[in-house]
Amino acid sequence: MQRFENNTYHLQGLTPEQLIEEFGSPLYVYNAATIRNKVAELQSAFEGVNLKIKYACKANTNLAILKLMREMGVELDVVSPGEMEMGKIAGFEPSQITFTPSGVPFWEVAQAVDAGAIVNIDSLPLLEWFGQTYGSSKPCMIRIKPNVAAGGNEKIMTAHADSKFGISVLLLTDILNIVDQYQIKVIGLHQHTGSDIKDAAPFIQVADILLDAARHFKDLEIIDLGGGFKVSYRPGDGITDMQHLGAKISDRFHKFCKEYGRPLQLWFEPGKFLVSESGYLLTTVTVVKQDPARNFVHIDSGLNHLIRPMMYGSYHHIINTSNPEGEEKHYNVVGYICETDTFATDRVLAEVRKGDILAFMNAGAYGITMSSNYNARFRPAEVLIEEGQARLIRRKETLEDLLRTQEGL
Ligand SMILES: *Cc1c(COP(=O)(O)O)cnc(C)c1O
Repeated sequence: MQRFENNTYHLQGLTPEQLIEEFGSPLYVYNAATIRNKVAELQSAFEGVNLKIKYACKANTNLAILKLMREMGVELDVVSPGEMEMGKIAGFEPSQITFTPSGVPFWEVAQAVDAGAIVNIDSLPLLEWFGQTYGSSKPCMIRIKPNVAAGGNEKIMTAHADSKFGISVLLLTDILNIVDQYQIKVIGLHQHTGSDIKDAAPFIQVADILLDAARHFKDLEIIDLGGGFKVSYRPGDGITDMQHLGAKISDRFHKFCKEYGRPLQLWFEPGKFLVSESGYLLTTVTVVKQDPARNFVHIDSGLNHLIRPMMYGSYHHIINTSNPEGEEKHYNVVGYICETDTFATDRVLAEVRKGDILAFMNAGAYGITMSSNYNARFRPAEVLIEEGQARLIRRKETLEDLLRTQEGL
């Protein structure tokens, strides 16, 4: 969020007050310019490599965001048939969509393959079934679990030995036996290490493991190193240095292609990196409760709209955009759900008054897509700002939306 000269906040010239006045509160707002910048940043870090970006769309599946990605030449990584269909509705060809499931029923894989998408196989039984079903007639990719622990916290690590994701690299011989038995055309190896990974080191370590395994496959066209880049959550936060990471990985990748004997594509599938910083959850203060122990700020939102702080203990920076010059005080920022839904504990904010607008930063990824109707609350509207114009891209829900699937009324 930027500031005008008089110190008030705005997004491309639109103030939180204007946005809430027009679209209601609470409200998810996305800045398209930020998404464009993130795509450009990733592309520039891997200049000189045959790079493909596959947006991991579980971070945010709003069709306007999917279309924006498509216009920028970004393709799609999906984890369910629902995401696949949304990708198609947004105009992606199935061939531009990768299906990276986790232990799904095999018919979901069949559906994706038959539609023309590429699938990342994540277990030996699925690989065996794939071989029996398709032989060498359809290509696939294999998700390798490199047994490396990295990520912001345990819940978002996906590549350590105890993780459920992918086929352990220790089972490489079994993988190769099945591939050989059914002549499966493995055109890519994939790994996704986890989320919120700041340093280049784990990415490089995992890339080395994957490239080492890759030597054993003869039909490769793609190396897919997943997502998980860390973005800034707190002011001054350490983030993934993309230029450094890009240089290191590109170097290894070029060497591998030379050894392998032909040029391959390098894929990444970031979610958070592309959309997190573009998004804000704008909320309105309902009550300021001065308790002997704490000052509580209640807002017109809760874990039903943004669950990351409660689920992962994640930090979201909060700005009181209504009182930028206010005296700083300590607050617990809490929701209106009948459950302990604490967004922030002992947080320093410019003095908060009833009716003030609190803006949550980094709300573009895993915000609306993890929201629910808990407490029979409606999901908020979503707005995309492009070239100074705010466009409604999802209306707020109504009671009819809540009742739509209930029978026997
Ligand atoms: C969730 C997911 C991603 C994206 O992770 P981010 O931390 O949002 O970058 C990438 N690949 C796969 C397979 C995923 O499941």
